[in-house]
Amino acid sequence: MIATAHRASTFKESVIREMTRVANQHGAINLAQGFPDFPMPEPMKDAACAAIHGDINQYAITWGTPALRLAIAQKYRKWYSMDVDPERDITVTCGATEAMAAVFLALIDPGDEVIIFEPFYENYGPDAILAGAKPVFVPLEGMEWKLDPEKLRAAFSDRTRAIVVNTPHNPTGRVFTRDEISLIAELCQKHDVIAITDEIYEHIIYAGSHHVLATWPGMRERTVTISGLSKTFSCTGWRLGYAIAAVELSSPIRKVHDFLTVGAPAPLQAAGAIGMAFDADYYNHISLEYRQRRDVMVSALQDAGFKFSSPQGAYYVLADFTEISDLRGVEFALWLAKEVGVATVPGTSFYSNPKLGETVTRFAFCKKPETLERAAERLAGISAHV
Ligand code: GLN
Repeated sequence: MIATAHRASTFKESVIREMTRVANQHGAINLAQGFPDFPMPEPMKDAACAAIHGDINQYAITWGTPALRLAIAQKYRKWYSMDVDPERDITVTCGATEAMAAVFLALIDPGDEVIIFEPFYENYGPDAILAGAKPVFVPLEGMEWKLDPEKLRAAFSDRTRAIVVNTPHNPTGRVFTRDEISLIAELCQKHDVIAITDEIYEHIIYAGSHHVLATWPGMRERTVTISGLSKTFSCTGWRLGYAIAAVELSSPIRKVHDFLTVGAPAPLQAAGAIGMAFDADYYNHISLEYRQRRDVMVSALQDAGFKFSSPQGAYYVLADFTEISDLRGVEFALWLAKEVGVATVPGTSFYSNPKLGETVTRFAFCKKPETLERAAERLAGISAHV
Protein backbone atom coordinates (compact mmCIF):
# COMPACT_ATOMS: atom_id res chain seq x y z
CA MET A 1 0.00 0.00 0.00
CA ILE A 2 1.33 3.42 -0.89
CA ALA A 3 1.14 5.76 2.08
CA THR A 4 -0.98 8.88 1.72
CA ALA A 5 -1.56 11.78 4.07
CA HIS A 6 -3.61 11.04 7.14
CA ARG A 7 -5.55 14.29 6.79
CA ALA A 8 -7.10 13.19 3.49
CA SER A 9 -8.39 10.03 5.12
CA THR A 10 -10.30 11.94 7.79
CA PHE A 11 -13.08 13.21 5.53
CA LYS A 12 -15.14 11.75 2.72
CA GLU A 13 -15.85 12.90 -0.80
CA SER A 14 -18.68 15.39 -1.04
CA VAL A 15 -22.10 13.74 -0.85
CA ILE A 16 -23.61 16.83 -2.53
CA ARG A 17 -21.48 16.24 -5.63
CA GLU A 18 -22.02 12.47 -5.39
CA MET A 19 -25.79 12.93 -5.52
CA THR A 20 -25.41 14.73 -8.86
CA ARG A 21 -23.74 11.57 -10.17
CA VAL A 22 -26.56 9.47 -8.67
CA ALA A 23 -29.13 11.73 -10.36
CA ASN A 24 -27.41 11.32 -13.73
CA GLN A 25 -27.14 7.57 -13.32
CA HIS A 26 -30.85 7.12 -12.57
CA GLY A 27 -32.28 9.87 -14.75
CA ALA A 28 -33.56 11.60 -11.64
CA ILE A 29 -34.37 15.32 -11.54
CA ASN A 30 -31.39 16.86 -9.79
CA LEU A 31 -32.62 18.82 -6.80
CA ALA A 32 -29.45 17.76 -4.98
CA GLN A 33 -26.44 19.93 -5.82
CA GLY A 34 -27.34 23.61 -5.65
CA PHE A 35 -26.70 24.88 -9.17
CA PRO A 36 -29.17 26.59 -11.51
CA ASP A 37 -30.39 24.83 -14.67
CA PHE A 38 -31.29 28.18 -16.28
CA PRO A 39 -28.96 30.54 -18.15
CA MET A 40 -26.86 33.28 -16.58
CA PRO A 41 -27.25 36.94 -17.67
CA GLU A 42 -26.56 37.50 -21.38
CA PRO A 43 -24.40 40.65 -20.94
CA MET A 44 -22.00 38.72 -18.73
CA LYS A 45 -21.73 35.88 -21.26
CA ASP A 46 -21.00 38.42 -24.01
CA ALA A 47 -18.40 40.14 -21.85
CA ALA A 48 -16.65 36.82 -21.16
CA CYS A 49 -16.51 35.96 -24.89
CA ALA A 50 -15.26 39.46 -25.69
CA ALA A 51 -12.56 39.15 -23.03
CA ILE A 52 -11.34 35.84 -24.45
CA HIS A 53 -11.32 37.18 -28.02
CA GLY A 54 -9.66 40.33 -26.70
CA ASP A 55 -6.78 38.13 -25.50
CA ILE A 56 -7.42 38.46 -21.80
CA ASN A 57 -6.23 34.91 -21.31
CA GLN A 58 -3.21 35.18 -19.04
CA TYR A 59 -2.96 35.35 -15.26
CA ALA A 60 -4.88 38.15 -13.66
CA ILE A 61 -3.34 39.96 -10.69
CA THR A 62 -3.31 37.36 -7.93
CA TRP A 63 -5.93 38.99 -5.70
CA GLY A 64 -8.22 39.92 -8.59
CA THR A 65 -8.42 42.25 -11.57
CA PRO A 66 -8.59 45.96 -10.66
CA ALA A 67 -11.94 46.28 -12.48
CA LEU A 68 -13.58 43.45 -10.54
CA ARG A 69 -12.20 44.60 -7.20
CA LEU A 70 -13.43 48.12 -7.90
CA ALA A 71 -16.88 46.84 -8.87
CA ILE A 72 -17.03 44.76 -5.67
CA ALA A 73 -16.00 47.75 -3.53
CA GLN A 74 -18.61 49.97 -5.22
CA LYS A 75 -21.31 47.39 -4.72
CA TYR A 76 -20.59 47.09 -0.99
CA ARG A 77 -20.71 50.87 -0.64
CA LYS A 78 -24.01 51.09 -2.52
CA TRP A 79 -25.79 48.13 -0.92
CA TYR A 80 -24.41 47.99 2.59
CA SER A 81 -22.78 51.42 3.14
CA MET A 82 -19.58 49.47 3.78
CA ASP A 83 -16.20 51.02 2.98
CA VAL A 84 -14.00 48.53 1.18
CA ASP A 85 -10.55 49.43 -0.11
CA PRO A 86 -10.22 47.63 -3.46
CA GLU A 87 -6.43 47.86 -3.25
CA ARG A 88 -6.03 46.09 0.07
CA ASP A 89 -9.22 44.52 1.39
CA ILE A 90 -10.40 42.21 -1.40
CA THR A 91 -9.09 38.81 -2.51
CA VAL A 92 -10.87 37.37 -5.55
CA THR A 93 -10.81 33.57 -5.33
CA CYS A 94 -11.88 30.47 -7.25
CA GLY A 95 -15.39 30.50 -5.81
CA ALA A 96 -16.45 31.15 -2.23
CA THR A 97 -15.25 27.57 -1.67
CA GLU A 98 -11.62 28.54 -2.18
CA ALA A 99 -12.15 31.73 -0.18
CA MET A 100 -13.37 29.71 2.82
CA ALA A 101 -10.50 27.20 2.59
CA ALA A 102 -7.89 29.95 2.15
CA VAL A 103 -9.32 31.91 5.08
CA PHE A 104 -9.20 28.85 7.35
CA LEU A 105 -5.61 28.11 6.33
CA ALA A 106 -4.55 31.74 6.72
CA LEU A 107 -6.21 32.57 10.03
CA ILE A 108 -6.67 29.39 12.08
CA ASP A 109 -3.91 27.53 13.90
CA PRO A 110 -4.03 23.79 14.62
CA GLY A 111 -5.97 23.21 17.83
CA ASP A 112 -7.95 26.47 17.61
CA GLU A 113 -11.68 26.13 18.12
CA VAL A 114 -14.03 27.31 15.40
CA ILE A 115 -17.75 27.67 16.11
CA ILE A 116 -20.03 26.35 13.37
CA PHE A 117 -23.83 26.27 13.38
CA GLU A 118 -25.23 22.80 12.80
CA PRO A 119 -26.60 21.65 10.38
CA PHE A 120 -23.85 23.19 8.26
CA TYR A 121 -22.75 23.33 4.64
CA GLU A 122 -20.63 20.24 4.06
CA ASN A 123 -17.41 22.06 3.10
CA TYR A 124 -16.82 23.60 6.53
CA GLY A 125 -15.97 20.17 7.99
CA PRO A 126 -13.04 19.43 5.64
CA ASP A 127 -12.00 23.12 5.76
CA ALA A 128 -11.64 22.78 9.53
CA ILE A 129 -9.76 19.47 9.22
CA LEU A 130 -7.33 20.85 6.62
CA ALA A 131 -6.53 23.74 8.95
CA GLY A 132 -6.26 21.44 11.99
CA ALA A 133 -9.10 23.38 13.66
CA LYS A 134 -11.43 21.90 16.23
CA PRO A 135 -15.03 22.56 15.21
CA VAL A 136 -17.46 23.38 18.03
CA PHE A 137 -21.04 22.93 16.88
CA VAL A 138 -23.99 25.05 17.95
CA PRO A 139 -27.33 23.51 17.00
CA LEU A 140 -30.10 25.19 15.04
CA GLU A 141 -33.02 23.34 16.55
CA GLY A 142 -36.47 22.05 15.67
CA MET A 143 -38.04 22.47 12.25
CA GLU A 144 -37.82 26.28 12.78
CA TRP A 145 -34.02 25.91 13.11
CA LYS A 146 -34.00 28.06 16.23
CA LEU A 147 -30.77 29.41 17.69
CA ASP A 148 -30.58 29.24 21.47
CA PRO A 149 -28.58 32.30 22.61
CA GLU A 150 -27.40 30.47 25.72
CA LYS A 151 -25.96 27.60 23.69
CA LEU A 152 -24.16 30.12 21.49
CA ARG A 153 -22.72 31.93 24.54
CA ALA A 154 -21.60 28.62 26.03
CA ALA A 155 -19.76 27.64 22.83
CA PHE A 156 -17.28 30.52 23.15
CA SER A 157 -14.14 29.73 25.14
CA ASP A 158 -10.63 31.11 25.46
CA ARG A 159 -9.62 28.68 22.70
CA THR A 160 -12.17 30.03 20.19
CA ARG A 161 -10.40 31.63 17.23
CA ALA A 162 -13.31 32.07 14.82
CA ILE A 163 -17.01 31.60 14.15
CA VAL A 164 -18.49 30.76 10.75
CA VAL A 165 -21.71 32.69 10.07
CA ASN A 166 -23.63 31.54 7.02
CA THR A 167 -26.74 33.63 6.36
CA PRO A 168 -28.98 33.00 4.42
CA HIS A 169 -28.22 29.53 5.64
CA ASN A 170 -27.48 26.39 3.68
CA PRO A 171 -29.12 23.85 4.19
CA THR A 172 -31.99 25.24 6.35
CA GLY A 173 -32.94 28.48 4.56
CA ARG A 174 -32.73 30.39 7.85
CA VAL A 175 -31.93 34.11 7.69
CA PHE A 176 -30.33 35.30 10.92
CA THR A 177 -32.19 38.17 12.57
CA ARG A 178 -30.75 41.53 13.53
CA ASP A 179 -30.74 40.42 17.19
CA GLU A 180 -28.90 37.21 16.39
CA ILE A 181 -26.26 39.06 14.37
CA SER A 182 -25.91 41.57 17.22
CA LEU A 183 -25.36 38.75 19.70
CA ILE A 184 -22.70 37.20 17.46
CA ALA A 185 -20.99 40.60 17.17
CA GLU A 186 -21.09 41.07 20.95
CA LEU A 187 -19.61 37.62 21.63
CA CYS A 188 -16.88 37.99 18.99
CA GLN A 189 -15.72 41.21 20.63
CA LYS A 190 -16.01 39.89 24.16
CA HIS A 191 -13.88 36.82 23.34
CA ASP A 192 -11.60 38.42 20.73
CA VAL A 193 -12.86 36.11 17.97
CA ILE A 194 -12.79 36.48 14.17
CA ALA A 195 -16.10 36.16 12.29
CA ILE A 196 -15.91 34.38 8.93
CA THR A 197 -19.15 34.92 7.04
CA ASP A 198 -20.53 32.99 4.11
CA GLU A 199 -23.00 35.34 2.41
CA ILE A 200 -23.21 33.60 -0.96
CA TYR A 201 -27.06 33.69 -0.83
CA GLU A 202 -27.22 37.38 0.19
CA HIS A 203 -29.58 38.29 -2.67
CA ILE A 204 -31.92 35.31 -2.31
CA ILE A 205 -34.22 36.37 0.53
CA TYR A 206 -37.95 35.74 1.08
CA ALA A 207 -38.43 37.00 4.65
CA GLY A 208 -36.47 39.44 6.78
CA SER A 209 -33.33 41.14 5.46
CA HIS A 210 -29.75 40.21 4.85
CA HIS A 211 -27.52 41.57 7.61
CA VAL A 212 -23.83 42.08 6.93
CA LEU A 213 -21.94 41.34 10.14
CA ALA A 214 -18.90 43.38 9.05
CA THR A 215 -21.03 46.54 9.19
CA TRP A 216 -21.80 46.07 12.92
CA PRO A 217 -19.93 48.45 15.24
CA GLY A 218 -16.53 47.01 16.12
CA MET A 219 -16.75 44.15 13.59
CA ARG A 220 -15.07 45.47 10.43
CA GLU A 221 -11.56 44.74 11.77
CA ARG A 222 -12.42 41.20 12.91
CA THR A 223 -14.70 39.98 10.11
CA VAL A 224 -13.91 38.25 6.86
CA THR A 225 -16.88 38.67 4.51
CA ILE A 226 -17.05 35.86 1.97
CA SER A 227 -19.40 35.86 -0.99
CA GLY A 228 -19.24 35.34 -4.72
CA LEU A 229 -20.92 35.53 -8.08
CA SER A 230 -22.05 31.90 -8.43
CA LYS A 231 -25.52 32.19 -6.94
CA THR A 232 -26.32 35.85 -7.65
CA PHE A 233 -25.46 35.51 -11.35
CA SER A 234 -26.21 31.80 -11.83
CA CYS A 235 -22.65 30.96 -12.84
CA THR A 236 -21.49 28.30 -10.38
CA GLY A 237 -19.08 26.89 -12.98
CA TRP A 238 -17.21 30.16 -13.36
CA ARG A 239 -15.70 29.81 -9.89
CA LEU A 240 -15.65 33.47 -8.89
CA GLY A 241 -15.76 34.29 -5.20
CA TYR A 242 -14.07 36.73 -2.88
CA ALA A 243 -13.05 37.45 0.68
CA ILE A 244 -13.22 40.99 2.07
CA ALA A 245 -11.26 41.85 5.18
CA ALA A 246 -9.22 44.63 6.71
CA VAL A 247 -5.54 44.52 5.79
CA GLU A 248 -4.32 42.62 8.86
CA LEU A 249 -6.51 39.66 7.92
CA SER A 250 -6.44 40.26 4.19
CA SER A 251 -2.64 39.98 3.81
CA PRO A 252 -2.31 36.37 5.04
CA ILE A 253 -5.44 35.41 3.08
CA ARG A 254 -3.87 36.81 -0.11
CA LYS A 255 -0.66 34.85 0.47
CA VAL A 256 -2.46 31.54 0.97
CA HIS A 257 -4.70 32.19 -2.03
CA ASP A 258 -1.66 32.99 -4.19
CA PHE A 259 0.03 29.68 -3.48
CA LEU A 260 -3.18 27.67 -3.74
CA THR A 261 -4.43 28.88 -7.11
CA VAL A 262 -2.48 32.02 -8.22
CA GLY A 263 -5.81 33.52 -9.21
CA ALA A 264 -9.32 33.14 -10.55
CA PRO A 265 -9.93 32.95 -14.34
CA ALA A 266 -8.98 36.30 -15.93
CA PRO A 267 -11.60 36.57 -18.73
CA LEU A 268 -14.38 35.59 -16.34
CA GLN A 269 -13.27 38.25 -13.88
CA ALA A 270 -13.63 40.81 -16.69
CA ALA A 271 -17.23 39.66 -17.18
CA GLY A 272 -17.82 39.47 -13.43
CA ALA A 273 -17.12 43.19 -13.13
CA ILE A 274 -20.03 43.83 -15.54
CA GLY A 275 -22.39 41.77 -13.37
CA MET A 276 -21.30 43.39 -10.12
CA ALA A 277 -22.36 46.74 -11.58
CA PHE A 278 -25.92 45.63 -12.47
CA ASP A 279 -28.57 47.94 -11.03
CA ALA A 280 -31.52 47.24 -8.72
CA ASP A 281 -33.71 45.94 -11.59
CA TYR A 282 -31.59 42.83 -11.85
CA TYR A 283 -31.86 42.06 -8.15
CA ASN A 284 -35.61 42.69 -8.12
CA HIS A 285 -35.94 40.32 -11.02
CA ILE A 286 -34.01 37.44 -9.45
CA SER A 287 -35.80 37.96 -6.17
CA LEU A 288 -39.22 37.66 -7.85
CA GLU A 289 -38.16 34.55 -9.78
CA TYR A 290 -36.76 32.84 -6.69
CA ARG A 291 -39.95 33.57 -4.77
CA GLN A 292 -41.95 31.80 -7.51
CA ARG A 293 -39.57 28.81 -7.44
CA ARG A 294 -39.82 28.68 -3.66
CA ASP A 295 -43.63 28.67 -3.83
CA VAL A 296 -43.72 25.77 -6.31
CA MET A 297 -41.25 23.76 -4.23
CA VAL A 298 -43.00 24.40 -0.93
CA SER A 299 -46.43 23.42 -2.19
CA ALA A 300 -45.08 20.27 -3.89
CA LEU A 301 -43.41 19.18 -0.65
CA GLN A 302 -46.49 19.98 1.44
CA ASP A 303 -48.72 17.99 -0.89
CA ALA A 304 -46.33 15.04 -0.80
CA GLY A 305 -46.39 14.94 3.04
CA PHE A 306 -42.98 16.38 3.96
CA LYS A 307 -42.68 18.50 7.12
CA PHE A 308 -40.50 21.60 7.04
CA SER A 309 -40.42 25.33 7.59
CA SER A 310 -40.60 27.46 4.49
CA PRO A 311 -37.14 28.91 3.76
CA GLN A 312 -36.54 32.59 4.61
CA GLY A 313 -33.63 32.71 2.18
CA ALA A 314 -31.22 30.71 -0.02
CA TYR A 315 -32.67 28.02 -2.30
CA TYR A 316 -33.00 24.93 -0.14
CA VAL A 317 -35.65 23.19 1.91
CA LEU A 318 -34.47 20.73 4.55
CA ALA A 319 -37.54 18.53 4.89
CA ASP A 320 -38.52 15.80 7.36
CA PHE A 321 -39.82 12.63 5.68
CA THR A 322 -40.79 10.51 8.70
CA GLU A 323 -44.47 10.58 7.78
CA ILE A 324 -43.66 9.27 4.30
CA SER A 325 -41.10 6.53 4.82
CA ASP A 326 -39.39 4.37 7.43
CA LEU A 327 -36.10 4.56 5.54
CA ARG A 328 -33.36 6.72 7.04
CA GLY A 329 -30.55 8.99 5.83
CA VAL A 330 -28.74 8.05 2.64
CA GLU A 331 -31.10 5.10 2.05
CA PHE A 332 -34.09 7.42 1.78
CA ALA A 333 -32.25 9.80 -0.58
CA LEU A 334 -31.15 6.91 -2.81
CA TRP A 335 -34.69 5.48 -2.82
CA LEU A 336 -36.14 8.88 -3.70
CA ALA A 337 -33.69 9.26 -6.59
CA LYS A 338 -34.14 5.74 -7.96
CA GLU A 339 -37.84 5.08 -7.36
CA VAL A 340 -39.44 8.52 -7.43
CA GLY A 341 -36.88 10.14 -9.74
CA VAL A 342 -35.99 13.16 -7.58
CA ALA A 343 -32.42 13.52 -6.31
CA THR A 344 -31.81 15.31 -2.99
CA VAL A 345 -28.95 15.51 -0.50
CA PRO A 346 -29.39 13.33 2.60
CA GLY A 347 -29.56 15.38 5.79
CA THR A 348 -26.75 13.28 7.28
CA SER A 349 -24.29 15.26 5.11
CA PHE A 350 -24.93 18.39 7.13
CA TYR A 351 -24.26 17.04 10.63
CA SER A 352 -21.10 16.11 12.51
CA ASN A 353 -23.04 13.20 13.97
CA PRO A 354 -24.94 11.77 10.96
CA LYS A 355 -27.62 10.35 13.25
CA LEU A 356 -28.92 13.87 13.83
CA GLY A 357 -29.76 14.27 10.14
CA GLU A 358 -31.27 10.88 9.42
CA THR A 359 -34.87 12.01 9.10
CA VAL A 360 -34.38 15.00 6.78
CA THR A 361 -33.31 15.48 3.17
CA ARG A 362 -32.40 18.67 1.29
CA PHE A 363 -34.20 19.87 -1.83
CA ALA A 364 -32.51 22.57 -3.98
CA PHE A 365 -35.01 24.61 -6.00
CA CYS A 366 -32.72 26.80 -8.13
CA LYS A 367 -34.36 25.33 -11.22
CA LYS A 368 -36.53 26.30 -14.22
CA PRO A 369 -40.31 26.32 -13.57
CA GLU A 370 -40.70 23.29 -15.83
CA THR A 371 -38.04 21.35 -13.89
CA LEU A 372 -39.81 22.11 -10.62
CA GLU A 373 -43.21 21.22 -12.12
CA ARG A 374 -41.84 17.86 -13.27
CA ALA A 375 -40.38 17.25 -9.81
CA ALA A 376 -43.74 18.21 -8.26
CA GLU A 377 -45.52 15.67 -10.48
CA ARG A 378 -43.11 12.93 -9.44
CA LEU A 379 -43.38 13.85 -5.76
CA ALA A 380 -47.19 13.85 -6.01
CA GLY A 381 -46.96 10.14 -6.79
CA ILE A 382 -44.60 9.35 -3.92
CA SER A 383 -47.10 7.28 -1.89
CA ALA A 384 -47.49 4.83 -4.77
CA HIS A 385 -43.79 3.92 -4.39
CA VAL A 386 -43.73 3.42 -0.60
N1 GLN B 1 -23.44 25.23 -2.42
C1 GLN B 1 -24.10 24.30 -3.30
C2 GLN B 1 -24.78 23.20 -2.52
O1 GLN B 1 -24.82 23.24 -1.31
C3 GLN B 1 -23.13 23.73 -4.28
C4 GLN B 1 -22.11 22.91 -3.61
C5 GLN B 1 -20.99 22.59 -4.50
O2 GLN B 1 -21.03 21.55 -5.11
N2 GLN B 1 -20.00 23.44 -4.58
O3 GLN B 1 -25.30 22.32 -3.13
